Amino acid sequence: MSSKLRPPPLQNDCFSLPPGVNWTPVDQALTMLRERLHPVVAHSEVPLMQAAGRVLAQDVTAQRSNPPQANSAVDGYGFALSAVHDGDNTLPLVQGRAAAGVPFEGVVPAGQAIRILTGAAVPPGVEAVVLEEDCAVDATHVAFRGPVKAFSNMRKAGEDVTEGDLALRQGRVLTPADLALASAVGIGKMPVFDRLRVGVLSTGDEIIEPGGSAGPGQIFDANRPMLLSLAARMGYAPVDLGHVKDDRAALRHRLDQARQQADVVLTSGGASAGDEDHVSALLKESGALAEWRIALKPGRPLALGMWDGLPVFGLPGNPVAALLCTLIFARPAFGLMAGAGWQDPQGFQVSAAFEKRKKPGRREYLRARMRDGRVEVFKSEGSGRISGLSWAEGLVELPDEAVTITPGDMVRYLPFGSFGV
Ligand code: AMP
Ligand code: MG
Repeated sequence: MSSKLRPPPLQNDCFSLPPGVNWTPVDQALTMLRERLHPVVAHSEVPLMQAAGRVLAQDVTAQRSNPPQANSAVDGYGFALSAVHDGDNTLPLVQGRAAAGVPFEGVVPAGQAIRILTGAAVPPGVEAVVLEEDCAVDATHVAFRGPVKAFSNMRKAGEDVTEGDLALRQGRVLTPADLALASAVGIGKMPVFDRLRVGVLSTGDEIIEPGGSAGPGQIFDANRPMLLSLAARMGYAPVDLGHVKDDRAALRHRLDQARQQADVVLTSGGASAGDEDHVSALLKESGALAEWRIALKPGRPLALGMWDGLPVFGLPGNPVAALLCTLIFARPAFGLMAGAGWQDPQGFQVSAAFEKRKKPGRREYLRARMRDGRVEVFKSEGSGRISGLSWAEGLVELPDEAVTITPGDMVRYLPFGSFGV
C-alpha cells in the first residue's frame, strides 16, 4: 500500500444545483451531496493500539482463527466419550494437567480423564469437559454422572472466526470491540485513512473571542467552540481557523491559508445574500457557489462552494441552525470524504410528550430529549436560544408534510449519539 497516495480532488462544480431549482427538499439535498462527494484523504498503517475511532481503509482478513484451537470453556475434567456411560462414572486421572497457555503434551488415553482449566487447549483424546462443580475428585480419580454430550463445555476451533474470513470491512469506524476482534485474529497494524481535517472559521464584525471583554453590539463566538468540538467528537481532526470580520479580503486570505491546513471547511455566518454576507459573495465570485435554499427549519440558505478545490460548508450564523446543518448535512458528507461512507443517523419512533401543529413545505427539527420513555421538546422554538441546544440530547424530526401531533403520537427521535457526537 502506498502510504500517501491521494484520491483525485473534488470537481469544482460538485455542489452546483440544476437551473431553476429554488427550495430544495432535505432529501434531495442529501442525495446530491451523496452523489458528488468521495474520499479525499490518504491512508497509512497505524498500530492496532492507536486505531480506535479511525476509519478502516481496507478490508481486514483474519490471519488466525478464533479460537485458534479447541479450548475448554470451564475449569473441569476432560476425557474421551467412548468409555463414558449414563449414570455414575469413575475415571482414573492422567498425570499432569492442561492450563491456559500451558498445554498438556501428549494424548489422553480413552478411559482416563485429565484436569483441564478454562482457556486451555483441549489435548488430543478429549471429546468433552465436565464442570468441576459436577465432579467428585480424590488424588487419583474423578467421578461424575453421565450422559455427557460431545463437545460439552468446549469451544471449537474457529467457531467464532475462521482464518481467511473477512473480519472487518473497509469504511468501518473502528470501535473498541473491533480492536478486540482484530487482535484476536492476529492483526497488529491497521490500514486507516488519515483523519479528515475539518477547518472551522467564524465570520462577523460583531463576533469576539470567548471570555474577552465585550463592547456594545458585540457577541461572544458560540459557534467555533461548538463546531470544533463536534468535529473532534465525530473522530476528525479539528483545525481552528479563527475568526474574520465581515471583510472580503480578509476572508479570501484566510480561505487561501485554509487550503494548506484543512480538507474541508465549516464557516458560520455571512452565508445568505445580504450586504455583509461575504462567505456567499466570495464563493459566488470564485464561480463555485451553490446557494442551497433548503426547505428546513431552523435553517437559512446553506452556502456550499469550492474554494480552489477546498469544499466549504457555509453554515448559517445562528448557532441553532449551524448545529442542525452540521448534523444533517455536513456529518454524512464528512463521512464520505473521510472514507467511512455515507452515514445516516439511526432514529427511533417514540411517543411524544408534546403538542405541535406544523405547516407543509419544509422539514422541521425540534430540540428534544427523552424522559420517562417519552420525547419532550424545548419550551421555545426560537432559533437564537442556545440554552435549548445545551438542554437538548437529540432532535425530533418532523416530515416535510403538514402534521398535527398530540401527546402519545409516535414521532421520530434522533439522539445526538446517532450522529456520532
Ligand atoms: P449571519 O448568518 O451572519 O447573518 O448571522 C446570523 C445570526 O447569528 C446573527 O445574529 C449573528 O450575530 C449570529 N452569529 C453569527 N456567528 C455567530 C457565532 N460565531 N456565534 C454566535 N452567534 C453568531
Ligand atoms: Mg454575519
